Amino acid sequence: MTTLTEELRAFGGARGADDFGIVSADVYEAKVPNLQKPSTTAPGMRSIIAFTKHMMTGAFATRDIPVQSLNSHYAIDQCERLSFEIGEWLEARGYLAVPIPPEAADMDLQRSPAGTLDLKWVCEEANIGQVGLDLNFLSPGYGARVYLGAVMTDAPLDPTPPRGEELCPGMKCGRCAVICPTQAVPLKASQGAHLAAYRGLNKRNCASGAERLGIKPLYLNLEKLVTASPVPDVDRVVDHRYWKEFWQSVNNKLGAFAACLQGRCSRRCATVANWSQWGESDSRLILTKDAFYH
Ligand code: SF4
Ligand code: SF4
Repeated sequence: MTTLTEELRAFGGARGADDFGIVSADVYEAKVPNLQKPSTTAPGMRSIIAFTKHMMTGAFATRDIPVQSLNSHYAIDQCERLSFEIGEWLEARGYLAVPIPPEAADMDLQRSPAGTLDLKWVCEEANIGQVGLDLNFLSPGYGARVYLGAVMTDAPLDPTPPRGEELCPGMKCGRCAVICPTQAVPLKASQGAHLAAYRGLNKRNCASGAERLGIKPLYLNLEKLVTASPVPDVDRVVDHRYWKEFWQSVNNKLGAFAACLQGRCSRRCATVANWSQWGESDSRLILTKDAFYH
């Protein structure tokens, strides 16, 4: 007889989820050190469904940042669509479903904005991949080139067992750390330490490289304008390219994140699965290893 979990997994796969796993809400809750716990958002949840959706490899065929950026946003849109459809599927069977925003931050959870749940840890606990050295989530099929989604539910689903495979070799690889333009990824670790003990990300450094049009640059630009002496020419300020780019980032997120040549670390992640279909020497993909190291 097919169980609810098996039916749901088949539905998720048929609707386009790449990897699909489940973690008990209680088990996950016990591991979360801050307010990004399931119970902060909704009491009574029994399971968290986690899934990934990959970006298209065609984005490596161009240096056009808007085209690459759109690729990310398409994948996020798919995560949102999948969350709704999975939720609808569960509610049609009498269970409650709470789709988790894949992108939005809750300003009340901690001082630096944080997601309702930290999806990379949810996905690791749901055993659909591993959080790598740079805190990017790595999936077996697409490496770091995935976006993540999650739905909480009061349905009693079966947790996904561990796969028993390590996707990130940590310092034995270290490619994401070397390529980072702002030294946001650990470059050193104690000999013999396990990845879990030293993986990390300096969020401030990462933001300075990857959020070219984020909130911090906006503050700094406004501060500069307010304190400038002599007062700058108004027409030149208003007609500056920065505002056009800022409008674009608000409108379609272009430049709002992953803007250091579209997240160098995730593009260059050496996870084997990352290039299994294409190979690093595929001449159609111009953003390969050599393009970045030169
Ligand atoms: S997104 Fe860019 S700045 Fe941030 S860690 Fe990756 S390579 Fe570094
Ligand atoms: S580039 Fe290497 S060290 Fe960095 S996350 Fe990928 S596999 Fe891990």
